[in-house]
This record gives sequence, structure tokens and C-alpha cells, in this order.
Amino acid sequence: MKADLLIKNALVLTMDDGLTVHDKADLVIAGPKIVEITPKAAGRAKKTIDASGKLVMPGLINMHTHAAMTLLRGLADDMPLDVWWQKFIFPLEQKLLDPEFIRCGVGLAALEMVRSGTTTFSDMYFYEQEAAEVCSRIGLRAYLGEGVLDAPSPHHPSADHALNYTKELWSRWRNDPLISIMVAPHAPYTCGKDNLIKAKALANELDLPLHIHVSETAAEVAESRKNSGLSPVEYLDSIGFLSEKVIAVHCVHLGKTDIRILKERRVKVVHCQESNLKLASGNAPIVELLDAGITVALGTDGAASNNNLDMFDEMDAVAKVHKMIKADPTVMDAQTVLKMATSEAARALGRQDIGSLAPGKTADIIILDLNKPHLLPLYNIYSQLVYSAGGSEVESVIINGRLVMENKRVLTMDEDEVLDNARHMGARIRHEIKNS
Ligand SMILES: [Zn+2]
Repeated sequence: MKADLLIKNALVLTMDDGLTVHDKADLVIAGPKIVEITPKAAGRAKKTIDASGKLVMPGLINMHTHAAMTLLRGLADDMPLDVWWQKFIFPLEQKLLDPEFIRCGVGLAALEMVRSGTTTFSDMYFYEQEAAEVCSRIGLRAYLGEGVLDAPSPHHPSADHALNYTKELWSRWRNDPLISIMVAPHAPYTCGKDNLIKAKALANELDLPLHIHVSETAAEVAESRKNSGLSPVEYLDSIGFLSEKVIAVHCVHLGKTDIRILKERRVKVVHCQESNLKLASGNAPIVELLDAGITVALGTDGAASNNNLDMFDEMDAVAKVHKMIKADPTVMDAQTVLKMATSEAARALGRQDIGSLAPGKTADIIILDLNKPHLLPLYNIYSQLVYSAGGSEVESVIINGRLVMENKRVLTMDEDEVLDNARHMGARIRHEIKNS
């Protein structure tokens, strides 16, 4: 055996198509790949982890966030989305955003995500070159989309500028094993037809995903109907924007026609339950989307509207809220929800090699300690993970075959420095607000 890493004696939840679970198995990893999952591996590896009594599973995939907004966590809570964004967040961003802010915020987000078992995240924000450098250094897999808006943004005087920047990002990171670039027009209500079409053309040219907020609030849908006579989904379809490469975030307010269009165009949907709850955006028809056979993944949204990046929290909320909405405890079972945070998210990214564990797949793996009072006894592992576990159960994290956290110690970051930087930036933000 020629292995770099051997994980021994683990309960292995593969999340493969057959939902295979190995009660006790060894995982052999060479370079970035899993080479074997076997009852007993022969030979030795450079590094061995004894995972007796522990769970090995695919790393979680957070399909929508604004990572650097961790620095705005708890700053403007308990208000409607339009007021939250237009009166507080956007003006602050205009004033504060610079490369240092992004490095500090993404560092904090990355630390939180690694600690809570996220191995891949999908982001829309500004100065994504800085985010890419931080994630590359830490070893966190990231899909990064530079926000494109008609109006001047904190980083770009125009949409063309943001699209050119996206192209530069792509040429800088195109062969990177961890960093992928997306084209990210912010939303149909902030990006006019011409810019949406330009974004789509760039995504086609470079073969990149398109990441966009769609139908988040009732007001957005009403405005769209007033302007074009169409819902946001109908409108995007009418200009030829929708395809299997589109990752549509939120999709809270949808009609039957919208769901039919999303299905026909094979659009991927990202559900951000906790953000929708906190901003009272509405009830996304996720059960209907799944019934229609649409790929749905989960995202936390930014930490300013959640207020954390813990995907275990997110799964718990998703499973429970839809039962209540439907008055039916059988909908959104734990297995379905866990798939949305792993294998279905990988499908949304068009990736076969992450989101599940099998020989030949990429080693994005988390190890959880199940020896906790709230996780015993163990009857159903999916239930335990969705309804009882939290991000703090995550003990070790492997991304692209690299050990990023071992026994709760993050190996690729100076944690004290990340936390200190966040505290200092918090003080700077407080000072800015006081003087504005
Ligand atoms: Zn968002």
C-alpha cells in the first residue's frame, strides 16, 4: 500500500447513491484521492488516524454565503431585508470594504467553516481574489463569484468592471485544485437585462457556473411583475438566462410556472432556511421543488443574516420547518436533508468527485466524535446528524487529501491571529459607525 493517510476502524457514512454505510472500515488516502475503503487495510501509511468509535463522512458543502460578512455578524438584526440591506449593510460595505476587510472576514469565516465541518463553500462577494488567496493558503475548497451589479459596488464602478475582474480571477485560478470561479450577477432586481446577458455570455465562454439570488422576497416578485409582467424566474427565462449551469439562491416565492421552468431548464436551487426565517422572507416551496425532481442544496447565506455558518444548524432547521409548514412530519426526512448538504450540493456544482466517499473520489472528509451524551445511543445515524449533532462534534477535517484540522486543532491557520484580527476589525467598524 502506498498511502499518505490511513483512517482506521471508522463508522463510514459514504452518502453514495446506494447510501452505503460501513460499520467498521479503513479509508486509504493517497495524494488528494481516496484509494480504498476496506474492512482492513494492509500495510502502513505516512500518517494513521485511529477513528475507533468515530464517524467518517463527506465534508459538508455550504452552497451560498458571503464569507467576509462574518465581520458584520450581529450588527443589524431584527429588521426587514430591504431596510437591513439598503439602510445598514450596503452603506457600511461602501465605506469599509477593502482587501484587508476581506482577508480578515474570510479568514474568520474559513475558521468557523472548517471547525464546523464544511469543506467546500460557494460565495458571492467582492474582492474575491483576496478570498481565493486566503482559502488557498488554508486549504479550504471554494467557489467564488465576484458580485456584479448595475450600480457602482464597493469594489467596482460598473458591471463591466466586475465582469472583467471575474475573467481575471478565472485566468489566475483556472488550474487550481481548490479554487473555482463563478460568474455572480447579484439578482435580477440589481442587474439589468444587458448585464445579465453579458454575465451569461461570460459564463458560457469560460464554462463557469452562474450564481444569482432569485425570488427572495414577495416585494421582489411584485416589483418584477410590475416592471415586466413576469415573475423573476419567468423574466430570467424570457431573456435566455436559465440553464443547468445556473445556481439560483433562495427561490422563496415561486408559482407553479416558475417550478416548471426551473425543472425544464435544469436550474439548481439553493435553500437558505435560517436566513429566510430570520429575515422573514417567506416559506420556500422546497418539498414541491424536490417532488418536481429539481436539485436542491443548502446554504447558510452570510453571517449577517443567519448568524452563523454551521451547516448542522442549517440542516436541523430545514428538516423541522418544512414539517411544520406542511403539517406533515414525514416530509424532509433526515436522509434527504443530509443529501442536500453533501451529494446533492456536489451535483449542483456539477461535481462527481466530492459530496460522497468512494475509491477514486476526492478526499474531502470530516471525522466526528460520537461519544457525547447527546449523541447516544445510536439507532439512526442520519437522524443523529441532522437532529442532535452540531458543528462542534467535528474533530478532524481533510480537504483534497490534506489534513486541515486534527483533534480540534486547525493546522493551517494561526487561530489566535484570526480571532485577534476579527476583534480589531470589529473595533474599527464600531468606530466607523459612531462617526458616521
Ligand atoms: Zn445571499
